[in-house]
Amino acid sequence: MRAKRRETLTAQGSGRVAEPYREIVEPIHVATTYERGTDGSYPGGRVYSRADNPTYDAPEALIASLEGAHAALLFASGEAAAGAFFQALMPGAVLAPRNMYWALRKWLLDFAKPRGLAVEFYDNASIDDLAAKARAVKPRGIWIETPANPTWEVTDIAAASAIAREVGAVIGIDSTVATPLLTRPIELGASIVMHSATKYLNGHSDVIAGALAAARDDALWQSIRYIRGGGGSVLGPFESWLLLRGIRTLHLRVACTCSNAMAIAQRFERHPKLSHVLYPGLASNPGHAVAARQMSGGFGGMMSLRLKAGEEAAKAFTAKLRVFKRATSLGSVESLAEHRASVEGPGTPCPADLVRLSIGIEHIDDLIGDIEEALG
Ligand SMILES: *Cc1c(COP(=O)(O)O)cnc(C)c1O
Repeated sequence: MRAKRRETLTAQGSGRVAEPYREIVEPIHVATTYERGTDGSYPGGRVYSRADNPTYDAPEALIASLEGAHAALLFASGEAAAGAFFQALMPGAVLAPRNMYWALRKWLLDFAKPRGLAVEFYDNASIDDLAAKARAVKPRGIWIETPANPTWEVTDIAAASAIAREVGAVIGIDSTVATPLLTRPIELGASIVMHSATKYLNGHSDVIAGALAAARDDALWQSIRYIRGGGGSVLGPFESWLLLRGIRTLHLRVACTCSNAMAIAQRFERHPKLSHVLYPGLASNPGHAVAARQMSGGFGGMMSLRLKAGEEAAKAFTAKLRVFKRATSLGSVESLAEHRASVEGPGTPCPADLVRLSIGIEHIDDLIGDIEEALG
């Protein structure tokens, strides 16, 4: 039989029926511990649920197959997943993008750097800057986020991978916004792919979870596995089950958010009150050509609007929205809007006039109408 398409894999979750009742939905395994045989062995192949829980098997296998990965691991959150990658490289040097998910940037600077991870930042939109810093620093790891929060610059993954090979670094990539459906970073040379599964993978704003997927089973992956089991940042079985349930509609949600986002970006691209509509799907966007090459099926559901009249106008616009909810986070079925600089706080590189939009799967006319009225 030919390989199943990704839509079929997601729709069917694991695709497995569970013995002995032939359930067509995966059961939840709540046990923390497993019985040993009389000879001291573990006939069930499991020892203790901090290392592994059988409820993880189906979502991990599904994420690995969507990413074309050797294997995947679930974590207690996206931050825990990303943290495991960086801890596995400590002590050492890493490069990270100047614009990136704020809480992770903060963790790198406040926690990891004082404990032996030498972090340097490169310009997301300049592969030349990345190459120059990589040759100067000779990092163990290069972190990429593309498209990157909250301005959605695009990094050329294949070009970054070539630089990483040249200097002997591994590429770890935060692919949360691209989802496993729009970009497959391992095919482009990445070693480790990270998802905040809280976002598109689960998709319903009701689970905090993270995932890493690995190109190969090597020493790096073994240390990451140990960091999860030994450090204990594991997902609960109920959250794991909910996550699998969420992933089953990933392809429908991602298709809808991409088409809604493109329609909104095109509609407001030349609006007189906006200085920028930041969205890699627009032909005018500086990252568009690279995005078109490394993304397929759409440009994602994240965009930002910058208001010509500045910070107060951006806040007032956010306050006037009625369909969009004012909340942080992204990648869910409902649309969210956020004045990003005020949530990131002092020291943020985010422009003060920027409003970040996470486009949901509502009717496009309601979303466009809401933005139109709030811009007034
Ligand atoms: C939310 C998010 C994270 C962090 O994930 P959590 O699940 O909230 O810990 C990391 N990167 C990106 C791009 C995110 O959107």
